Amino acid sequence: HPASHSPLLTGLNDEQLAAVTLPAGHALILAGAGSGKTRVLTTRIAWLLQTGQATPGSIMAVTFTNKAAKEMLARLSAMLPYNVRGMWIGTFHGLCNRMLRAHYQVAKLPQAFQILDTQDQLSAIKRLCKQFNVDDERFPPKQLMYFIAGCKEEGMRPGDVVATDPDTRKKVEIYQLYEEQCQREGVVDFGELMLRSFELLRDDVHLRQHYQRRFQHILVDEFQDTNKLQYQWLKQLAGEADGSRFVSQSSVIAVGDDDQSIYAFRGARVGNMADFIREFEVKNQIKLEQNYRSYSNILDCANALISHNSNRLGKNLRTTQGPGEPVRIYEAPSDLAEASWMVDEIKQLVKNDGFTRQEIAVLYRSNAQSRVIESALFNSGIPYRVYGGLRFFERAEIKHALAYLRLLENPHDDTSFMRVVNFPARGIGARTIEQLQDAARSSGCSLSDAVTAVGGAAGTKLQGFVAQIDVLREQTQGKTLREIIETVEEQSGLIEHYRNEKEGADRIENLQELVTAAESFVTQEGFGKDAVALPLDAQEILPATNLTQSPVSQGLDPEAPLLDQPLQAPAGTLASMVNADTGETMSPLAAFLSHASLEAGDNQAQAGQDAVQLMTVHASKGLEFDAVFIGGVEEGLFPHENAMMDRGGLEEERRLAYVAITRARKRLYLSHSQTRMLHGQTRYNVKSRFFDELPEEALKWITPRQSGFGSFAPNSGAGGAYGSRGSGQFGSNSGWSNKTEVFASPVVPRQKAEPSHGIKAGITVFHNKFGEGKVLAVEGQGDDARAQVSFGRHGTKWLALAIAKLTVVE
Ligand code: ATP
Ligand code: MG
Repeated sequence: HPASHSPLLTGLNDEQLAAVTLPAGHALILAGAGSGKTRVLTTRIAWLLQTGQATPGSIMAVTFTNKAAKEMLARLSAMLPYNVRGMWIGTFHGLCNRMLRAHYQVAKLPQAFQILDTQDQLSAIKRLCKQFNVDDERFPPKQLMYFIAGCKEEGMRPGDVVATDPDTRKKVEIYQLYEEQCQREGVVDFGELMLRSFELLRDDVHLRQHYQRRFQHILVDEFQDTNKLQYQWLKQLAGEADGSRFVSQSSVIAVGDDDQSIYAFRGARVGNMADFIREFEVKNQIKLEQNYRSYSNILDCANALISHNSNRLGKNLRTTQGPGEPVRIYEAPSDLAEASWMVDEIKQLVKNDGFTRQEIAVLYRSNAQSRVIESALFNSGIPYRVYGGLRFFERAEIKHALAYLRLLENPHDDTSFMRVVNFPARGIGARTIEQLQDAARSSGCSLSDAVTAVGGAAGTKLQGFVAQIDVLREQTQGKTLREIIETVEEQSGLIEHYRNEKEGADRIENLQELVTAAESFVTQEGFGKDAVALPLDAQEILPATNLTQSPVSQGLDPEAPLLDQPLQAPAGTLASMVNADTGETMSPLAAFLSHASLEAGDNQAQAGQDAVQLMTVHASKGLEFDAVFIGGVEEGLFPHENAMMDRGGLEEERRLAYVAITRARKRLYLSHSQTRMLHGQTRYNVKSRFFDELPEEALKWITPRQSGFGSFAPNSGAGGAYGSRGSGQFGSNSGWSNKTEVFASPVVPRQKAEPSHGIKAGITVFHNKFGEGKVLAVEGQGDDARAQVSFGRHGTKWLALAIAKLTVVE
């Protein structure tokens, strides 16, 4: 091939080379973790562009996370002298958003339609249920939310659901009402983005044909985790059914790994791979078997583990890298101890072994695990960054500020209206709101439009609120995003409100952070002056009616894991605010609001900082790190208890573990803890069965003998729990007293203790750093025991007895 000398292709192995340079046509690349699937996909795009076989506008690539999309764009712009911003590279949800923005009229959406995140969605459903007197015991709002999301994932509108029992009929009825409410308010939830975009393509033949002609190359990463609707959406873009055959002019390349299918609970269908091969009559199937990511000890663990699953498509993975370090396994007495061990190891990795923090990841099965780890990192002053979990844009004060901003863009956004109509307090009570809702319902208009229907003093207050928003809108006209946000935060009274609140300082900081987030959004996305539209092929121009609004490309992150979070959130943004079709830009505020709704917990403030990465295993898919910690590898947690009932569930857990293990390049640490505080209860856990499935020769158990576990020996230096490790382990760690302070408040309902360790309220103790102090209170047992000690000039501190060096002063 003429381009085979391209430097792009150097270093690829034969199979990779074949995949990158595949001739036009559909193909499936099926390969294990770290074999270069994503790299092949990225390189192929670069190669197509470089060899002139494709223009930027003719390529669409779907990635699984926003992070992946960003990385792909970054690599492409490094490889090519193109402005890659206008390219359609993003997650399914991001691309759907982009499409709906571009064709909002055809999609019957308001121009400034807003995206509901999961929280908003839930509160919208709650509001609806209240309004229609739905029994929330029989139909819990969360369940309704799952029901609606599930229907949408299957591509079903209320009319498509076959309801045979009264309960389902009721749910469908609520689904219908919910849809009407969303439409009235001009908002869409995540599922709606996908479904609406699918319907747009299905129902509008011109649009469909436009995009079919345009996207000559469709590339899909992590194909094993596509759901039914996503597959149908791809088919709409790729071609037309012709009788029983599917005819496609474009080249669809799907890349996947059946062993990494971890979203069955969210409707993912591994079966899409088989359907794809059949329906697209895929001729080219390529397997990649060389792993470039991990040392063989790590890889051996992954291979051995996954071999316990049945019905695998069957792939081998080998590496030419050496064995590397053994996989380290640590058994902790408690979750707190597990976290402190991680922190110590992380310090070592950075200090002695030259690892950078951002190349270190801590993965967990359940979001609830992150809090303890965060505390430990925080108190050691180690910068960290959490993906998912508590997301910046989900904090109350941020949601409030965003609600005001959204009302500027769209006064009919009732969710936002409800959120801030009486926040800060304006003397608008629940009665008034009910009256307003009644009025809005009976005249079929938005809350904002209904305010004049409410009489008396209450009505005046409501009108005052709407007027305030109108004034703000006027005031911020033509201002920069920064000015808009600052003005809104001030004028709305939010800042003032938090200034008067006892713990408002943090919140004010977050509100200021929102300004920073907006600012970095503007620069990162190249929004505004340096945004350049891509050259267009003539055939890419759409009928003018469809070109009114510019798109934003956003992404959706993997959905929440089973456990704590419902449908978790989508990811941030990428590409540009420039419409690749028209070159138009959209308002910075509108773009930013979209971004905020789709943002996946990429804390803007921490972006770019060299920080340890924390995330669920689900969120780690496709990523890689030099060192990986997997915490809580315990029966009931990993594999998770909800999944252990049946073989399918257990196998999905094993795939999850396979994903987790294969994230590591050089070092892998697995840990489990004997006790763990989860959901307000201490649980006694045994180590995961997955340990039994790992090859012993690749492992190194680093846990010391647990001689003193559970009992406290005040005179044994570091404390009984670490008996055999000696005091050195924690001795150097003078920050410990502070660490426990952080645990003190959030770890509420630990049991009251009997003071078996000799430390009890009233006695005097000595601490290495703080000197003598008086014990005020003791709580918890064994390793969890904590004492509140008053140290005079050092103040009062909560100390973990298992760790703090406390001796009783006679
Ligand atoms: P996953 O299944 O986890 O998504 P993947 O198959 O997509 O993994 P990549 O992320 O593309 O794998 O590649 C894994 C690592 O191996 C990357 O760091 C990549 O740059 C590197 N790599 C891939 N192919 C080669 C190669 N031919 N030579 C050197 N390094 C390579
Ligand atoms: Mg990949």
